[in-house]
Amino acid sequence: MSGTLITSEVDLDAQGKQMGYLRLPHSTHRSAYGWIPVPITVIHNGEGPTLVISAGVHGDEYEGQIAVANLARELDADDIRGRLIMLPMLNVPAAEAGCRVSPLDDGNLNRLYPGDAKGTPSEMIAHYHEEVILPLADYAVDLHSGGSSLNYPARLLRGPAHTPEEEAGLAKLTQAFDLPYAWVFTGGGGRNSPARTAMGAANRKGVINVMAELGGAGCLTPDVLRQTERGLRRILHALGMLPGYAPDAPRGTRSLHSKGSIYCYGSGVFEPLKAIGEDVAEHETVALIHHPETPGKAPDAVVSPYGGLVLAMRAMAQVRRGDALFQIAAVAV
Ligand SMILES: [Zn+2]
Repeated sequence: MSGTLITSEVDLDAQGKQMGYLRLPHSTHRSAYGWIPVPITVIHNGEGPTLVISAGVHGDEYEGQIAVANLARELDADDIRGRLIMLPMLNVPAAEAGCRVSPLDDGNLNRLYPGDAKGTPSEMIAHYHEEVILPLADYAVDLHSGGSSLNYPARLLRGPAHTPEEEAGLAKLTQAFDLPYAWVFTGGGGRNSPARTAMGAANRKGVINVMAELGGAGCLTPDVLRQTERGLRRILHALGMLPGYAPDAPRGTRSLHSKGSIYCYGSGVFEPLKAIGEDVAEHETVALIHHPETPGKAPDAVVSPYGGLVLAMRAMAQVRRGDALFQIAAVAV
């Protein structure tokens, strides 16, 4: 037994379409017997794989939340083969606050796996996801964005495969999602993964899984939302779970490896000199940090230690030492 205190209003094994809540017990001043409602939809129709799609692991990342909520509303049991479990707003207190972390416990859900069955609310959610939901899954997709502080183009993230079967599954998910970029990790993953992320949890349970970074800056980007919705249906179709869907022609994905992040060593106002998708040369000046509070003080130049391509950029102009300004990638060979 998992030991979880969370109960589900939906039967994870029943056939048909069910919508409801995971009830996370939370006794407070204003609600002594209350629970936190984590939304869940399960659509199960006969034989086929189980796919778990999660979003809202970070509360201020919106494209995935809306794409999964739309999918849950629009699909019926007749459309599906197998079992589709959808969790559009996994860390619901964070999402309702519009924050990366939960206001109840300061919990950054994607740093808390494998969680704790009797821990804080965020730890209890992580535990339920890893120990109750993911063991049911053959495949999983976890949807993120840059949140409030970063901006990403639509990009998939996947780990290295440890078996030919895993490689085939990861390639299928990557090709089906058909996002402009795929960020391919060259290490980690597998059943012994120590990662405290939802991806680490899925790897520990032997689930073929990818995640995606989709937009950011605290906004919902309509174009990225459309790419996300298209990609999720394409994945369902590629897994044989949505036979009635007719995918359009693939647009193609550039595979990239991480070079590293460029950090700020001063404080001030960040002026990027590069845009997402632009090439950067090693030692090139990529940003200026301005000091308008000090008359006559010239801005500091930020120099890239890496050559490559800008694949994420800080969304907030105010910066402090330690803030990530850019993420730089190189085309995978
Ligand atoms: Zn995130």
